[in-house]
Amino acid sequence: MIKKLLQRVFNSKSKKTAETTSAATATHNKKTRRKPDSKAKRILKKDHRIDRNLLSVGAIKTTEGLQNAGFEAYVVGGAVRDLLLKKRPKDFDIATDATPEEVNRVFRRSRIIGRRFRLVHVMYGDETVEVSTFRGSHLADSEQNDAKVADSGRILRDNVFGDQVEDALRRDFTANALYYDPATEVVLDFHDGVADIQAGVLRMIGDPVTRYREDPVRMLRAIRLSAKLGLKIEQATEAPIPKLADALGDVPPSRLFDEMLKLFLSGHALESVNALRHHGLHHGLLPMLDVVLEQPMGERFVKLALKNTDDRVLAEKPVSPSFLFATLLWHEVLVAWKKYQDLGENSIPALHLAMNEVIDTQAEKLAIHKRFSATMKEIWGLQVRFEQRAGKRPYSLIENPRYRAAYDFLLLRCESGELPMELGKWWTDFASAEGEKRQAMLLPDTAPKKRRRRSRKKPAASGNTSVE
Ligand code: ATP
Ligand code: MG
Repeated sequence: MIKKLLQRVFNSKSKKTAETTSAATATHNKKTRRKPDSKAKRILKKDHRIDRNLLSVGAIKTTEGLQNAGFEAYVVGGAVRDLLLKKRPKDFDIATDATPEEVNRVFRRSRIIGRRFRLVHVMYGDETVEVSTFRGSHLADSEQNDAKVADSGRILRDNVFGDQVEDALRRDFTANALYYDPATEVVLDFHDGVADIQAGVLRMIGDPVTRYREDPVRMLRAIRLSAKLGLKIEQATEAPIPKLADALGDVPPSRLFDEMLKLFLSGHALESVNALRHHGLHHGLLPMLDVVLEQPMGERFVKLALKNTDDRVLAEKPVSPSFLFATLLWHEVLVAWKKYQDLGENSIPALHLAMNEVIDTQAEKLAIHKRFSATMKEIWGLQVRFEQRAGKRPYSLIENPRYRAAYDFLLLRCESGELPMELGKWWTDFASAEGEKRQAMLLPDTAPKKRRRRSRKKPAASGNTSVE
């Protein structure tokens, strides 16, 4: 008891020091601090039934640490929504009235991140908890407000701290504007989010058209969260989406990429892509996805790939974004590959030209990070080698570090009807066979013999130069 009391006294002192020292630099508007949460409904445990055991150690320690230091601190956003839906949140965000510097001073293992809007990452072993200071409206009339809005209404910058009421107002959906205090187990609900979640509804806070104009990514979030959580997008929230779809064109490609990645890895990719299509949002996101989905073979391939990814995510197996993007764009590669061969290129150079063309076209809208596109090219580049089943080539292919991904990719091609099933089965059997049995599987080498042959050990049937 005494220890706790001392801690509180000590911490409230250190909070004061922190406030005075940071006053000159922080953009925090102190007048708006600690406004009563008069507008919020207080939902008690008996009504929300959140299981506190689903909270992470980091979430509890961070809110406790901040509260002991005299600040307000709540679990906020997606985590509270997921807790209400009885799902274990994948990460925890904390909202507080402490400035980033103040948060940083409370936790030894923490660091301030972000240039535009500074957040604090607090570390506990493998877990990182993200702490953000309550944010105000980009329309706030204050001298510290350096917000910038484009003519389209899109917010280019909003950098202003605010109070909890404002923080709730600038969140996207009612279900995402909930604040849970693990100490009291009370949920503060500013926009009737608990009722919406209980009714299975995803509803935009404020005027949906204005909110989408401010940030068109909210349209993608509506689709993704609705598919992932099984919430129905409320009618007024859904209606403007097809009309505003073009606004996504103004969003920086790197942000679109991050959002699409979340969508593809949500465990509900197939459903999300169908919903994107239904709302006319897929055009321009993966510029070629719409083309792909209109070719029966391409559609079958993409759907199999998405289903495969969803199954893996739901079984908590790792998934590779490179593999997924490679599947989404494969049929475009096939078209371009054929085009270059028809122009007289040999198979392998034609494939490389096709891969580069597809990646470059894609990059105009949705930049795929280099670290992913390099692997995509490796997976694509190996496909041609599965057709070579003679001599030493199959041996060197299964030794390739990307063999496994390329083989999984091959199986999808077979399952979708692009290649005969027999080819995939041959590779499955070849990989599991040993010694002579393996040798016996090889097909006769019909490849033209190389003129300059250096290897003397294995004559005749071996083409021992690898393709790449
Ligand atoms: P997920 O379960 O995928 O993490 P999430 O809703 O938690 O979903 P985050 O990107 O982690 O998504 O965002 C955390 C919170 O920040 C959201 O719950 C929401 O309150 C707010 N938020 C995120 N993106 C936006 C946005 N574009 N506009 C307004 N509020 C947003
Ligand atoms: Mg989240």
